Amino acid sequence: MNISELLARNARKFPDKEVIIEGETALTYAELDDSVNRLASSLARLGIQTGDKVILYMPNTQEFIISYFAVLRLGAIVVPINARLTAEEVKYIIHHSEAKALIAYDCIYKALQSLVADNNILWIKTGDEQDGWLSFAQLLEKGTSKSIVCTLDEDDEAAILYTSGTTGRPKGVLFTYRNILAVAVMMALETKMDAKSRILHMMPLSHSAPLHLFFIAGMYVGATHVLSPTFSPEVLLGLTAKHQITHFFGAPVAYLLTAKHPHIHHYDLTSVKYWVYGGAPLSTNEVKFIQEKFRTNRLMCVYGLTEAGPNGTYLSPEEHAIKAGSIGRQAALNCEVKIVDDHGREVPVGEVGELILSGEGTMKGYYKDEENTAETVKDGWLYTGDLARRDEDGYLWMVDRKKDMIISGGVNIYPKEVEDALRQHPSIADVAVVGVPHPEWGETVKAFVVISKPIENLKQECKRFLEGKIADYKIPRLYEAIAELPRNATGKILKQALKNRGINNEIVARG
Ligand code: ATP
Repeated sequence: MNISELLARNARKFPDKEVIIEGETALTYAELDDSVNRLASSLARLGIQTGDKVILYMPNTQEFIISYFAVLRLGAIVVPINARLTAEEVKYIIHHSEAKALIAYDCIYKALQSLVADNNILWIKTGDEQDGWLSFAQLLEKGTSKSIVCTLDEDDEAAILYTSGTTGRPKGVLFTYRNILAVAVMMALETKMDAKSRILHMMPLSHSAPLHLFFIAGMYVGATHVLSPTFSPEVLLGLTAKHQITHFFGAPVAYLLTAKHPHIHHYDLTSVKYWVYGGAPLSTNEVKFIQEKFRTNRLMCVYGLTEAGPNGTYLSPEEHAIKAGSIGRQAALNCEVKIVDDHGREVPVGEVGELILSGEGTMKGYYKDEENTAETVKDGWLYTGDLARRDEDGYLWMVDRKKDMIISGGVNIYPKEVEDALRQHPSIADVAVVGVPHPEWGETVKAFVVISKPIENLKQECKRFLEGKIADYKIPRLYEAIAELPRNATGKILKQALKNRGINNEIVARG
Protein backbone atom coordinates (compact mmCIF):
# COMPACT_ATOMS: atom_id res chain seq x y z
CA MET A 1 0.00 0.00 0.00
CA ASN A 2 1.22 3.50 -0.73
CA ILE A 3 -0.40 6.82 0.05
CA SER A 4 -1.51 7.59 -3.49
CA GLU A 5 -3.37 4.27 -3.56
CA LEU A 6 -5.20 5.19 -0.33
CA LEU A 7 -6.88 7.95 -2.30
CA ALA A 8 -7.59 5.74 -5.33
CA ARG A 9 -9.13 3.11 -3.05
CA ASN A 10 -11.34 5.65 -1.28
CA ALA A 11 -12.43 7.05 -4.66
CA ARG A 12 -13.62 3.55 -5.63
CA LYS A 13 -15.29 2.94 -2.27
CA PHE A 14 -17.02 6.28 -1.71
CA PRO A 15 -16.82 8.24 -5.00
CA ASP A 16 -19.50 10.80 -4.07
CA LYS A 17 -18.42 11.43 -0.53
CA GLU A 18 -17.01 14.88 0.28
CA VAL A 19 -13.31 14.62 1.03
CA ILE A 20 -12.21 18.28 1.05
CA ILE A 21 -14.28 21.26 2.12
CA GLU A 22 -12.69 24.69 1.73
CA GLY A 23 -14.81 27.80 2.12
CA GLU A 24 -17.98 27.27 0.11
CA THR A 25 -16.48 24.64 -2.20
CA ALA A 26 -16.30 20.89 -1.72
CA LEU A 27 -14.51 18.11 -3.63
CA THR A 28 -15.66 14.49 -3.62
CA TYR A 29 -13.25 11.56 -3.46
CA ALA A 30 -13.88 10.84 -7.17
CA GLU A 31 -13.27 14.48 -8.14
CA LEU A 32 -10.07 14.65 -6.09
CA ASP A 33 -8.79 11.42 -7.62
CA ASP A 34 -9.56 12.71 -11.12
CA SER A 35 -7.77 16.04 -10.50
CA VAL A 36 -4.79 14.14 -9.13
CA ASN A 37 -4.56 12.01 -12.28
CA ARG A 38 -4.84 15.12 -14.45
CA LEU A 39 -2.11 17.03 -12.65
CA ALA A 40 0.12 13.95 -12.42
CA SER A 41 -0.15 13.31 -16.18
CA SER A 42 0.79 16.94 -16.91
CA LEU A 43 3.72 16.82 -14.49
CA ALA A 44 4.89 13.58 -16.15
CA ARG A 45 4.69 15.27 -19.56
CA LEU A 46 6.88 18.06 -18.17
CA GLY A 47 9.46 15.44 -17.17
CA ILE A 48 8.77 14.76 -13.48
CA GLN A 49 9.72 11.14 -12.73
CA THR A 50 10.08 8.65 -9.89
CA GLY A 51 12.48 9.97 -7.24
CA ASP A 52 12.33 13.63 -8.34
CA LYS A 53 11.69 16.13 -5.54
CA VAL A 54 8.77 18.53 -5.89
CA ILE A 55 8.33 21.35 -3.37
CA LEU A 56 4.85 22.53 -2.35
CA TYR A 57 4.76 26.15 -1.16
CA MET A 58 1.08 26.41 -0.39
CA PRO A 59 -1.26 27.03 2.52
CA ASN A 60 -3.97 24.49 3.44
CA THR A 61 -5.98 24.49 0.21
CA GLN A 62 -7.51 22.02 -2.26
CA GLU A 63 -4.60 22.73 -4.58
CA PHE A 64 -2.15 21.63 -1.88
CA ILE A 65 -3.96 18.31 -1.53
CA ILE A 66 -4.20 17.74 -5.30
CA SER A 67 -0.48 18.53 -5.72
CA TYR A 68 0.51 16.33 -2.77
CA PHE A 69 -1.16 13.24 -4.23
CA ALA A 70 -0.15 14.03 -7.84
CA VAL A 71 3.53 14.11 -6.88
CA LEU A 72 3.23 10.81 -5.00
CA ARG A 73 1.25 9.21 -7.81
CA LEU A 74 4.29 9.65 -10.06
CA GLY A 75 6.55 8.02 -7.49
CA ALA A 76 8.19 11.42 -7.01
CA ILE A 77 9.12 12.72 -3.55
CA VAL A 78 6.91 15.41 -2.08
CA VAL A 79 8.54 18.26 -0.15
CA PRO A 80 5.81 20.35 1.51
CA ILE A 81 7.25 23.51 3.05
CA ASN A 82 5.73 26.25 5.14
CA ALA A 83 4.07 28.89 2.98
CA ARG A 84 5.42 31.64 5.22
CA LEU A 85 9.09 30.91 4.55
CA THR A 86 11.06 33.74 2.94
CA ALA A 87 12.75 33.51 -0.49
CA GLU A 88 16.13 32.99 1.22
CA GLU A 89 14.80 30.09 3.31
CA VAL A 90 13.12 28.52 0.28
CA LYS A 91 16.31 28.92 -1.75
CA TYR A 92 18.19 26.89 0.86
CA ILE A 93 15.58 24.11 0.71
CA ILE A 94 15.51 24.11 -3.13
CA HIS A 95 19.26 23.54 -3.24
CA HIS A 96 19.36 21.13 -0.34
CA SER A 97 16.53 18.97 -1.69
CA GLU A 98 17.70 19.29 -5.33
CA ALA A 99 14.10 20.01 -6.28
CA LYS A 100 12.94 19.60 -9.89
CA ALA A 101 9.73 21.64 -9.50
CA LEU A 102 8.03 24.00 -7.09
CA ILE A 103 4.28 24.52 -6.91
CA ALA A 104 3.21 27.77 -5.22
CA TYR A 105 -0.09 29.34 -4.30
CA ASP A 106 -1.16 32.31 -6.38
CA CYS A 107 -1.41 34.99 -3.70
CA ILE A 108 2.05 34.23 -2.26
CA TYR A 109 4.11 33.26 -5.31
CA LYS A 110 5.57 36.77 -5.65
CA ALA A 111 7.59 36.22 -2.48
CA LEU A 112 9.69 33.77 -4.53
CA GLN A 113 9.93 35.85 -7.72
CA SER A 114 13.64 36.59 -7.19
CA LEU A 115 14.33 32.81 -7.47
CA VAL A 116 12.55 32.24 -10.79
CA ALA A 117 15.74 32.95 -12.75
CA ASP A 118 16.78 29.39 -11.80
CA ASN A 119 16.10 27.50 -15.04
CA ASN A 120 16.69 24.05 -13.57
CA ILE A 121 13.31 24.15 -11.87
CA LEU A 122 9.76 24.08 -13.13
CA TRP A 123 7.91 26.97 -11.50
CA ILE A 124 4.19 26.32 -11.24
CA LYS A 125 1.54 28.39 -9.51
CA THR A 126 -2.20 28.28 -9.08
CA GLY A 127 -3.98 30.96 -11.14
CA ASP A 128 -2.76 32.30 -14.47
CA GLU A 129 0.49 31.70 -16.30
CA GLN A 130 2.66 34.80 -15.68
CA ASP A 131 6.11 36.07 -14.63
CA GLY A 132 7.82 32.82 -15.68
CA TRP A 133 5.35 30.57 -13.84
CA LEU A 134 3.28 27.80 -15.46
CA SER A 135 -0.41 27.69 -14.61
CA PHE A 136 -1.62 24.92 -12.30
CA ALA A 137 -5.17 25.37 -13.68
CA GLN A 138 -3.92 24.83 -17.23
CA LEU A 139 -1.97 21.74 -16.21
CA LEU A 140 -5.16 20.33 -14.70
CA GLU A 141 -7.14 21.19 -17.81
CA LYS A 142 -4.60 19.72 -20.22
CA GLY A 143 -4.02 16.58 -18.16
CA THR A 144 -5.77 13.27 -18.79
CA SER A 145 -8.17 11.46 -16.48
CA LYS A 146 -6.65 8.04 -17.14
CA SER A 147 -5.71 6.38 -13.83
CA ILE A 148 -2.04 6.43 -13.02
CA VAL A 149 -1.08 3.65 -10.63
CA CYS A 150 1.87 4.21 -8.33
CA THR A 151 3.59 0.87 -7.77
CA LEU A 152 6.02 1.92 -5.07
CA ASP A 153 5.87 0.01 -1.80
CA GLU A 154 6.35 0.59 1.91
CA ASP A 155 10.12 0.91 1.90
CA ASP A 156 10.30 3.40 -0.95
CA GLU A 157 10.92 7.06 -0.25
CA ALA A 158 7.83 9.27 -0.15
CA ALA A 159 8.53 12.66 1.42
CA ILE A 160 11.06 15.07 2.85
CA LEU A 161 9.79 17.37 5.60
CA TYR A 162 11.97 20.18 6.84
CA THR A 163 12.03 20.69 10.64
CA SER A 164 10.88 24.04 12.02
CA GLY A 165 14.45 25.26 12.37
CA THR A 166 13.89 26.45 15.93
CA THR A 167 17.30 25.09 16.95
CA GLY A 168 19.31 25.92 13.82
CA ARG A 169 19.05 25.39 10.05
CA PRO A 170 16.02 23.28 9.12
CA LYS A 171 16.92 19.62 8.63
CA GLY A 172 15.48 17.58 5.75
CA VAL A 173 13.77 14.55 7.28
CA LEU A 174 13.33 11.72 4.78
CA PHE A 175 10.34 9.39 5.18
CA THR A 176 9.37 6.12 3.54
CA TYR A 177 5.74 5.15 2.96
CA ARG A 178 6.00 2.76 5.90
CA ASN A 179 7.03 5.59 8.25
CA ILE A 180 4.10 7.77 7.25
CA LEU A 181 1.48 5.03 7.24
CA ALA A 182 2.61 3.69 10.65
CA VAL A 183 2.01 7.11 12.19
CA ALA A 184 -1.31 7.62 10.40
CA VAL A 185 -2.66 4.23 11.48
CA MET A 186 -1.59 4.92 15.06
CA MET A 187 -3.50 8.22 15.14
CA ALA A 188 -6.59 6.82 13.43
CA LEU A 189 -6.77 4.08 16.07
CA GLU A 190 -5.86 6.19 19.11
CA THR A 191 -8.47 8.86 18.28
CA LYS A 192 -11.09 6.44 16.95
CA MET A 193 -11.32 8.04 13.50
CA ASP A 194 -13.69 6.52 10.96
CA ALA A 195 -15.39 7.38 7.68
CA LYS A 196 -17.81 9.66 9.56
CA SER A 197 -15.01 11.76 11.09
CA ARG A 198 -14.78 15.42 10.10
CA ILE A 199 -11.30 16.77 10.65
CA LEU A 200 -10.45 20.47 10.77
CA HIS A 201 -7.01 21.50 9.47
CA MET A 202 -5.80 24.95 10.48
CA MET A 203 -2.18 24.17 11.32
CA PRO A 204 0.10 24.12 8.25
CA LEU A 205 -0.11 20.79 6.42
CA SER A 206 3.58 21.21 5.59
CA HIS A 207 4.39 19.93 9.11
CA SER A 208 4.46 16.35 10.24
CA ALA A 209 1.76 16.40 12.94
CA PRO A 210 -0.97 18.10 10.87
CA LEU A 211 -0.02 16.13 7.75
CA HIS A 212 0.81 12.61 8.91
CA LEU A 213 -1.07 12.37 12.21
CA PHE A 214 -4.25 14.01 10.98
CA PHE A 215 -4.51 14.33 7.24
CA ILE A 216 -3.11 10.93 6.24
CA ALA A 217 -4.87 9.27 9.19
CA GLY A 218 -8.14 10.74 7.91
CA MET A 219 -7.38 9.51 4.39
CA TYR A 220 -6.73 6.07 5.84
CA VAL A 221 -10.28 5.84 7.16
CA GLY A 222 -12.03 7.83 4.41
CA ALA A 223 -12.90 10.88 6.53
CA THR A 224 -13.93 14.39 5.43
CA HIS A 225 -11.38 17.20 5.78
CA VAL A 226 -12.24 20.85 6.34
CA LEU A 227 -9.38 23.16 5.36
CA SER A 228 -8.56 26.63 6.55
CA PRO A 229 -5.49 28.41 5.16
CA THR A 230 -5.14 30.54 8.28
CA PHE A 231 -5.77 30.31 12.00
CA SER A 232 -7.80 32.64 14.14
CA PRO A 233 -9.93 31.84 17.21
CA GLU A 234 -13.13 33.02 15.42
CA VAL A 235 -12.43 30.81 12.40
CA LEU A 236 -11.64 27.80 14.61
CA LEU A 237 -14.83 28.25 16.62
CA GLY A 238 -16.96 29.09 13.58
CA LEU A 239 -15.79 26.17 11.40
CA THR A 240 -16.04 23.70 14.27
CA ALA A 241 -19.67 24.62 14.91
CA LYS A 242 -20.63 24.90 11.22
CA HIS A 243 -19.12 21.58 10.09
CA GLN A 244 -19.69 19.62 13.29
CA ILE A 245 -15.98 18.84 13.50
CA THR A 246 -14.99 15.66 15.35
CA HIS A 247 -11.17 16.02 15.41
CA PHE A 248 -8.89 19.04 15.63
CA PHE A 249 -5.14 19.36 16.09
CA GLY A 250 -3.61 22.64 17.19
CA ALA A 251 -0.48 24.07 18.75
CA PRO A 252 -0.90 24.99 22.45
CA VAL A 253 -0.89 28.67 21.57
CA ALA A 254 -3.93 28.15 19.29
CA TYR A 255 -5.87 26.69 22.24
CA LEU A 256 -4.75 29.42 24.63
CA LEU A 257 -5.79 32.18 22.24
CA THR A 258 -9.15 30.54 21.56
CA ALA A 259 -9.81 29.93 25.26
CA LYS A 260 -9.51 33.70 25.80
CA HIS A 261 -12.07 34.49 23.07
CA PRO A 262 -14.84 36.50 24.76
CA HIS A 263 -17.66 34.68 22.91
CA ILE A 264 -16.35 31.12 23.01
CA HIS A 265 -19.55 29.97 24.73
CA HIS A 266 -21.72 31.18 21.86
CA TYR A 267 -20.40 28.34 19.69
CA ASP A 268 -21.60 24.74 19.76
CA LEU A 269 -18.40 22.69 20.14
CA THR A 270 -20.05 19.51 21.40
CA SER A 271 -19.37 17.51 18.20
CA VAL A 272 -15.63 17.39 18.97
CA LYS A 273 -14.46 13.98 20.18
CA TYR A 274 -10.74 14.82 20.30
CA TRP A 275 -9.19 18.23 20.85
CA VAL A 276 -5.57 17.28 20.25
CA TYR A 277 -2.63 19.54 21.09
CA GLY A 278 1.13 19.09 20.87
CA GLY A 279 4.34 20.40 19.43
CA ALA A 280 5.13 22.53 22.47
CA PRO A 281 4.48 22.30 26.20
CA LEU A 282 1.34 23.30 28.09
CA SER A 283 1.53 23.57 31.86
CA THR A 284 -1.00 21.84 34.13
CA ASN A 285 -2.68 25.18 34.86
CA GLU A 286 -2.96 26.04 31.18
CA VAL A 287 -4.51 22.65 30.40
CA LYS A 288 -7.08 23.21 33.15
CA PHE A 289 -7.83 26.71 31.86
CA ILE A 290 -8.42 25.37 28.34
CA GLN A 291 -10.62 22.52 29.60
CA GLU A 292 -12.73 24.99 31.53
CA LYS A 293 -13.12 27.49 28.68
CA PHE A 294 -13.75 24.85 26.01
CA ARG A 295 -16.12 23.07 28.45
CA THR A 296 -14.55 19.79 27.44
CA ASN A 297 -12.98 16.70 28.91
CA ARG A 298 -11.81 15.62 25.43
CA LEU A 299 -8.34 17.21 25.37
CA MET A 300 -5.55 14.89 24.23
CA CYS A 301 -1.82 15.66 24.30
CA VAL A 302 0.56 14.27 21.70
CA TYR A 303 4.31 14.48 22.06
CA GLY A 304 6.62 13.82 19.16
CA LEU A 305 9.06 15.34 16.74
CA THR A 306 9.37 15.45 12.99
CA GLU A 307 12.13 12.83 13.01
CA ALA A 308 9.79 10.35 14.76
CA GLY A 309 7.14 10.78 12.15
CA PRO A 310 6.05 12.48 14.62
CA ASN A 311 5.04 9.41 16.62
CA GLY A 312 5.93 9.56 20.32
CA THR A 313 3.72 9.50 23.39
CA TYR A 314 0.22 10.71 24.22
CA LEU A 315 -1.92 11.59 27.19
CA SER A 316 -5.51 10.47 26.61
CA PRO A 317 -8.55 12.61 27.51
CA GLU A 318 -9.31 10.27 30.42
CA GLU A 319 -5.76 10.65 31.78
CA HIS A 320 -6.12 14.44 31.75
CA ALA A 321 -8.29 14.13 34.85
CA ILE A 322 -5.28 12.96 36.87
CA LYS A 323 -2.13 13.99 34.98
CA ALA A 324 -2.82 17.19 33.01
CA GLY A 325 0.53 18.66 31.92
CA SER A 326 2.23 15.27 31.48
CA ILE A 327 3.00 13.97 27.98
CA GLY A 328 1.63 10.54 28.89
CA ARG A 329 2.72 7.18 30.24
CA GLN A 330 2.76 5.03 27.18
CA ALA A 331 4.46 5.34 23.88
CA ALA A 332 1.89 5.55 21.11
CA LEU A 333 1.06 2.43 19.08
CA ASN A 334 3.97 1.33 16.88
CA CYS A 335 6.38 3.03 19.27
CA GLU A 336 8.47 2.55 22.44
CA VAL A 337 9.87 5.14 24.82
CA LYS A 338 12.76 5.24 27.34
CA ILE A 339 14.53 7.88 29.41
CA VAL A 340 18.28 7.40 29.41
CA ASP A 341 21.49 8.93 30.75
CA ASP A 342 24.48 9.99 28.65
CA HIS A 343 25.56 6.33 28.36
CA GLY A 344 22.18 5.15 27.06
CA ARG A 345 21.20 3.51 30.39
CA GLU A 346 17.63 3.94 31.67
CA VAL A 347 17.49 6.41 34.57
CA PRO A 348 15.58 5.71 37.82
CA VAL A 349 12.10 7.16 38.49
CA GLY A 350 12.24 10.92 39.16
CA GLU A 351 15.61 11.47 37.48
CA VAL A 352 16.03 13.63 34.41
CA GLY A 353 17.37 11.99 31.25
CA GLU A 354 17.03 12.15 27.49
CA LEU A 355 13.83 10.80 26.00
CA ILE A 356 14.47 8.26 23.25
CA LEU A 357 11.92 6.66 20.92
CA SER A 358 11.81 3.63 18.70
CA GLY A 359 9.09 2.81 16.20
CA GLU A 360 8.07 2.40 12.60
CA GLY A 361 7.44 6.13 12.21
CA THR A 362 11.12 6.96 12.74
CA MET A 363 12.60 8.69 9.69
CA LYS A 364 14.75 6.87 7.19
CA GLY A 365 17.34 9.57 7.97
CA TYR A 366 18.29 13.18 7.46
CA TYR A 367 18.47 13.77 3.74
CA LYS A 368 22.12 13.95 2.63
CA ASP A 369 23.40 14.01 6.20
CA GLU A 370 24.64 10.58 7.25
CA GLU A 371 26.73 11.92 10.10
CA ASN A 372 23.81 13.68 11.77
CA THR A 373 21.58 10.64 11.14
CA ALA A 374 24.11 8.34 12.83
CA GLU A 375 24.28 10.68 15.84
CA THR A 376 20.49 10.86 16.13
CA VAL A 377 19.40 7.27 15.44
CA LYS A 378 21.43 4.67 17.34
CA ASP A 379 20.54 0.95 17.47
CA GLY A 380 17.05 1.78 16.21
CA TRP A 381 16.48 4.43 18.92
CA LEU A 382 15.85 8.05 18.03
CA TYR A 383 17.58 10.45 20.43
CA THR A 384 15.09 13.30 20.69
CA GLY A 385 17.21 15.93 22.45
CA ASP A 386 14.31 16.33 24.89
CA LEU A 387 14.86 16.00 28.62
CA ALA A 388 12.14 14.30 30.65
CA ARG A 389 11.49 12.37 33.85
CA ARG A 390 9.01 9.70 34.95
CA ASP A 391 6.90 10.16 38.06
CA GLU A 392 6.13 7.39 40.55
CA ASP A 393 3.00 6.45 38.54
CA GLY A 394 5.07 6.02 35.40
CA TYR A 395 3.92 9.25 33.72
CA LEU A 396 6.39 11.24 31.65
CA TRP A 397 6.98 14.95 32.20
CA MET A 398 8.89 17.08 29.75
CA VAL A 399 11.63 19.00 31.51
CA ASP A 400 13.00 20.92 28.54
CA ARG A 401 14.91 20.64 25.31
CA LYS A 402 18.56 19.79 25.88
CA LYS A 403 19.58 22.69 23.67
CA ASP A 404 17.51 25.18 25.69
CA MET A 405 18.98 24.12 29.03
CA ILE A 406 20.88 26.96 30.71
CA ILE A 407 24.17 26.24 32.47
CA SER A 408 24.86 29.03 34.93
CA GLY A 409 27.88 28.72 37.20
CA GLY A 410 28.06 25.01 36.33
CA VAL A 411 24.46 24.35 37.45
CA ASN A 412 21.69 23.20 35.08
CA ILE A 413 18.57 25.36 34.88
CA TYR A 414 15.54 24.27 32.86
CA PRO A 415 13.78 27.33 31.38
CA LYS A 416 10.41 25.56 31.24
CA GLU A 417 10.27 25.32 35.04
CA VAL A 418 10.93 29.05 35.38
CA GLU A 419 8.40 29.86 32.61
CA ASP A 420 5.70 27.72 34.25
CA ALA A 421 6.23 29.57 37.54
CA LEU A 422 6.18 33.06 35.99
CA ARG A 423 3.06 32.26 33.94
CA GLN A 424 1.11 31.97 37.18
CA HIS A 425 1.53 35.74 37.76
CA PRO A 426 -1.85 37.40 37.12
CA SER A 427 -0.30 40.25 35.08
CA ILE A 428 1.90 38.05 32.89
CA ALA A 429 0.32 36.82 29.66
CA ASP A 430 3.29 35.02 28.12
CA VAL A 431 6.93 34.39 28.96
CA ALA A 432 10.10 32.87 27.54
CA VAL A 433 13.27 32.23 29.49
CA VAL A 434 16.68 31.90 27.85
CA GLY A 435 20.34 31.82 28.82
CA VAL A 436 22.43 34.82 27.78
CA PRO A 437 26.24 34.99 28.01
CA HIS A 438 27.73 36.06 31.32
CA PRO A 439 31.46 36.76 31.82
CA GLU A 440 31.73 34.85 35.12
CA TRP A 441 28.92 32.26 35.16
CA GLY A 442 28.99 31.25 31.51
CA GLU A 443 25.30 32.04 31.17
CA THR A 444 22.74 33.93 33.16
CA VAL A 445 18.95 33.59 33.14
CA LYS A 446 16.91 36.16 31.26
CA ALA A 447 13.09 36.35 31.10
CA PHE A 448 11.19 37.94 28.23
CA VAL A 449 7.77 38.84 29.55
CA VAL A 450 4.52 39.83 27.82
CA ILE A 451 2.52 41.88 30.30
CA SER A 452 -1.27 41.94 30.35
CA LYS A 453 -1.62 44.56 33.11
CA PRO A 454 0.95 47.25 34.04
CA ILE A 455 3.73 46.18 36.46
CA GLU A 456 5.62 49.03 38.11
CA ASN A 457 9.05 47.46 38.62
CA LEU A 458 9.21 44.32 36.50
CA LYS A 459 12.42 42.89 37.94
CA GLN A 460 11.48 43.48 41.56
CA GLU A 461 7.93 42.15 41.11
CA CYS A 462 9.00 39.00 39.27
CA LYS A 463 11.71 38.23 41.81
CA ARG A 464 9.26 38.72 44.67
CA PHE A 465 6.73 36.46 42.94
CA LEU A 466 9.24 33.69 42.25
CA GLU A 467 10.82 33.62 45.71
CA GLY A 468 9.79 30.41 47.45
CA LYS A 469 8.36 28.96 44.22
CA ILE A 470 11.69 28.07 42.61
CA ALA A 471 15.25 27.92 43.94
CA ASP A 472 17.07 31.24 44.13
CA TYR A 473 19.68 30.34 41.50
CA LYS A 474 16.92 29.74 38.93
CA ILE A 475 15.31 33.16 39.38
CA PRO A 476 16.09 35.29 36.30
CA ARG A 477 18.58 38.09 36.86
CA LEU A 478 17.55 39.96 33.70
CA TYR A 479 14.05 40.90 32.52
CA GLU A 480 12.71 42.51 29.39
CA ALA A 481 9.09 43.41 28.67
CA ILE A 482 8.20 42.54 25.11
CA ALA A 483 4.98 43.15 23.12
CA GLU A 484 4.83 39.65 21.65
CA LEU A 485 7.10 36.59 21.70
CA PRO A 486 8.53 35.60 18.32
CA ARG A 487 6.93 32.32 17.22
CA ASN A 488 7.25 30.17 14.12
CA ALA A 489 4.31 29.06 12.01
CA THR A 490 3.65 26.07 14.27
CA GLY A 491 3.48 28.22 17.38
CA LYS A 492 6.95 27.43 18.77
CA ILE A 493 8.81 30.24 20.50
CA LEU A 494 11.96 31.15 18.58
CA LYS A 495 14.38 31.05 21.49
CA GLN A 496 17.43 31.64 19.32
CA ALA A 497 15.96 34.94 18.14
CA LEU A 498 15.39 35.94 21.77
CA LYS A 499 18.94 34.94 22.71
CA ASN A 500 20.34 37.06 19.90
CA ARG A 501 18.09 39.93 20.93
CA GLY A 502 19.28 39.45 24.50
CA ILE A 503 22.90 39.75 23.40
CA ASN A 504 22.23 42.79 21.22
CA ASN A 505 20.41 44.56 24.02
CA GLU A 506 23.27 43.80 26.38
CA ILE A 507 25.70 45.28 23.87
CA VAL A 508 23.54 48.38 23.54
CA ALA A 509 23.26 48.67 27.31
CA ARG A 510 27.03 48.36 27.80
CA GLY A 511 27.90 50.54 24.80
P1 ATP B 1 14.35 22.00 14.70
O1 ATP B 1 14.76 20.58 14.95
O2 ATP B 1 14.69 22.47 13.32
O3 ATP B 1 14.76 22.93 15.77
P2 ATP B 1 11.77 21.53 15.83
O4 ATP B 1 12.44 20.55 16.73
O5 ATP B 1 11.11 22.72 16.44
O6 ATP B 1 12.74 22.01 14.68
P3 ATP B 1 9.56 19.78 15.50
O7 ATP B 1 9.89 18.42 15.09
O8 ATP B 1 8.33 20.41 14.96
O9 ATP B 1 10.70 20.72 15.04
O10 ATP B 1 9.46 19.90 17.09
C1 ATP B 1 9.62 18.81 17.96
C2 ATP B 1 9.87 19.27 19.37
O11 ATP B 1 8.71 19.95 19.91
C3 ATP B 1 10.10 18.12 20.34
O12 ATP B 1 11.45 17.66 20.27
C4 ATP B 1 9.76 18.77 21.67
O13 ATP B 1 10.83 19.54 22.17
C5 ATP B 1 8.61 19.70 21.32
N1 ATP B 1 7.32 19.06 21.61
C6 ATP B 1 6.55 18.33 20.78
N2 ATP B 1 5.42 17.91 21.38
C7 ATP B 1 5.46 18.39 22.65
C8 ATP B 1 4.59 18.29 23.79
N3 ATP B 1 3.41 17.66 23.74
N4 ATP B 1 4.98 18.90 24.93
C9 ATP B 1 6.15 19.55 24.99
N5 ATP B 1 7.01 19.70 23.97
C10 ATP B 1 6.68 19.12 22.80
